[in-house]
Amino acid sequence: MLSYADARALVIAQISQHPRKPATSLKNVNDALGNVLACEVRTDRDYPPFHRSTRDGYAVRAADASAGSKLKCVGEIKAGDTVTEPLAPGTCIQIMTGAALPAGADAVVMIEFTERIGDTVMFQRATSSGQNFVPKGSEARANDLALKRGLRLGYAELALAAQVGAAEVVCYNRPRVAILSTGDEVVPITESPSPFHIRNSNSVSLTAQVRLAGGEPVPLGNALDRVDDLSAKIERGLKEDILVISGGVSMGKYDLVETVLKSVGTEFYFDAVAIRPGKPAVFGRCRNTFVFGLPGNPVSTMVTFQLFVIPAIDVLGGARPRQLPLLEANIVKTLHEKPGLTHFLPGRFEWTGISPEVKPLSWQGSGDIAALTKSNCFIVVPADRQDIPAGEKVSVLPRLDVI
Ligand code: AMP
Ligand code: MG
Repeated sequence: MLSYADARALVIAQISQHPRKPATSLKNVNDALGNVLACEVRTDRDYPPFHRSTRDGYAVRAADASAGSKLKCVGEIKAGDTVTEPLAPGTCIQIMTGAALPAGADAVVMIEFTERIGDTVMFQRATSSGQNFVPKGSEARANDLALKRGLRLGYAELALAAQVGAAEVVCYNRPRVAILSTGDEVVPITESPSPFHIRNSNSVSLTAQVRLAGGEPVPLGNALDRVDDLSAKIERGLKEDILVISGGVSMGKYDLVETVLKSVGTEFYFDAVAIRPGKPAVFGRCRNTFVFGLPGNPVSTMVTFQLFVIPAIDVLGGARPRQLPLLEANIVKTLHEKPGLTHFLPGRFEWTGISPEVKPLSWQGSGDIAALTKSNCFIVVPADRQDIPAGEKVSVLPRLDVI
């Protein structure tokens, strides 16, 4: 059976083998968080565009402002002022943070290290050329590459686009991800379930996970555990870039998802992964759509989505696949798990001490959504480790929505 790392690599490799250029749209930077850039963004001018003071103080020629020297202050410059006059030798000018240095000035002396009487300023310390300002063009030169095509836009990337005047940017359209739950026991969340039915929470968590990952969710509701209903709804899902199905991939008599996928021509790349929860996860391609069959227990669905569907959304969306953001922490309680599968256990990662710690949470298994709401990560227990003593370092997979 594949390890989760090999299964992830297979997803990335298979999707990369069928490259397609997503369509693009022009997006306002205020609406582009999480989108992938389909164009290059270049700087419109030097950054900073002038020598920018980083302190409140006096702009000087450093050679004039030795310890104990006195200079005449000839005025002041605040942020936003137009500066055309050079600084005459033997003088200084008061300057504010963010303001432009006048020509000739090559240092700013912090106001704290000066004394002023009338328009005479006394300098208490030696001054060195270059201190307390950011030189023009030192962050970027005009026409430098600011943002590369294929970059996912976070708040820093959006701020840089805004800084260089790219108020709108061309982005790849988000991959469309059809979401289909399955099960005779599943009812819409707006209905009251009978004592033996459950509400469709997977469609809600999957919709949220798709959005967070940068995809466009296409909710298709629930299919009954019947070939006709499953076939019809799977056909609908095959119109999208990705089809994510929850439930119906285990070994039960009514787990028909694989059978139906096969009957419509799906080529499978894997149909099990050595993990718990999530072992029966399925990945394949049918026509132009990549299909994931995720086990229906809510936590299984969440874990397998994070492991396998996120990189698919990345690659189909024109971005490089994100790495798994594994962290390390000292476990505070001894763990004992069955060997052979990599376990993903709900945990609470805390930064209370010098080094981070993680606490395993008690839970009732992969149906226990309530336990997950107390977690902020999954503790990754390797397949070859049965016992992990308290105090040992373990890998931790953060939940992307809460860390
Ligand atoms: P399955 O993978 O189809 O065997 O489903 C396993 C279990 O997951 C079911 O017995 C349900 O308790 C639960 N389940 C399946 N589908 C959903 C869903 N859409 N929302 C919430 N729980 C579900
Ligand atoms: Mg089922």
